[in-house]
Amino acid sequence: MDDFIIIGGGIAGVSAGARLSQLGTVTLLEAEDALAYHASGRSAAMFEESYGAPSVIELNRASRHHHETANGGVLSPRGLMIVAKQGQEDKLAHDLTTMNMRSISINEALALVPILNPETIVGAGYHSDAWDIDTDLLIQNFAREMRTNGQVITGARVQQITRLHTGWEVTTPKGSFVAKTLVNAAGAWADQIAALAGIKMLGIQPYRRSMARISAPDGCDVSGWPMVMGAGESWYAKPDAGALIVSPADADPVEPQDAWADDMVLAEGLARYEEMVTAPVKRMISNWAGLRSFAPDRNLVIGPSPQDAHFLWFAGQGGYGFQTSPAASRLLSDIVAGTPPELASDTVASLSPARFG
Ligand SMILES: Cc1cc2nc3c(=O)[nH]c(=O)nc-3n(C[C@H](O)[C@H](O)[C@H](O)COP(=O)(O)OP(=O)(O)OC[C@H]3O[C@@H](n4cnc5c(N)ncnc54)[C@H](O)[C@@H]3O)c2cc1C
Repeated sequence: MDDFIIIGGGIAGVSAGARLSQLGTVTLLEAEDALAYHASGRSAAMFEESYGAPSVIELNRASRHHHETANGGVLSPRGLMIVAKQGQEDKLAHDLTTMNMRSISINEALALVPILNPETIVGAGYHSDAWDIDTDLLIQNFAREMRTNGQVITGARVQQITRLHTGWEVTTPKGSFVAKTLVNAAGAWADQIAALAGIKMLGIQPYRRSMARISAPDGCDVSGWPMVMGAGESWYAKPDAGALIVSPADADPVEPQDAWADDMVLAEGLARYEEMVTAPVKRMISNWAGLRSFAPDRNLVIGPSPQDAHFLWFAGQGGYGFQTSPAASRLLSDIVAGTPPELASDTVASLSPARFG
């Protein structure tokens, strides 16, 4: 019998596996044929410390050192700019305050991103403290750590979960697995896994977010441009491997699924981007969507179910699963080991499944 079975092979499951493998043997079960097929393979890969609810910001801060240093680090400089059109001045002011950004002139904005349209942009803010995360490397690093005391089984969709006196039995097409403790890191499917285990669902809701990859504007080397976001997170664009990825920043509630981008949502999002630049979209190279899954209060859910101490929630990563992963997974293993967490006790309480009663 293993010590831990983890359900889900995205950044949540893999980071939990890395930490928990220090405390016992781990089997990670992933339904798809590869790790990071769903949300974790579809993100914008940013580290922005001041983005998210207060508890998320605490997790971001506590994750920074690991992102910067572990295994040589996974961050590279990007920077973040917010731009506003007429009517968005209040949203811009709010964004600048919450994200610790300084107001910059339209000329400064144009110097950083020359395709911005000075006729539509009425205000902008910027800070350099926003970073690209090498998400593939981060997942590989955590997976390698987990494999020192564990295994990954892909193509193993969990179909049945049975509570035994001594632990849990989990049935998949690749066989049955038993462990003392079950970790629910199933992303958009976290509530479904709880239901299979006879644990009360928490209302983890997936929201779809779409992305288009477009060719770089003619003659532009976009590699040094910051990420640019419309005030109030109305759209964003970011350099990616010589092209630009542009998101409508949509957040439509959907059932857990292999998500895809809706044509109309993409078209409207690209129109919001085009309104703010002088270079029309010439070619969409590809598009996709992923699910950002939130608990009702938008805090992550980390720790044992009040119903069963051997059922651990590690869910509700929302739009922050990568940037929070070092500290979130560390908190999970501290709770299991009984080690005092690095995070403040009110933050830990705000992340605990016990908050739902
Ligand atoms: C467009 C977009 C942009 C984003 N940008 C950022 C960003 O810039 N920075 C950031 O930090 N985060 C970002 N995110 C959020 C981040 O991608 C997610 O928070 C994170 O990937 C969630 O990881 P996860 O492991 O919880 O979920 P997932 O990656 O979805 O993994 C869950 C896994 O569980 C598996 N599973 C489900 N049911 C079963 C079952 N029955 N049996 C076995 N396996 C099962 C699934 O197959 C899946 O692989 C973004 C997300 C999107 C969609």
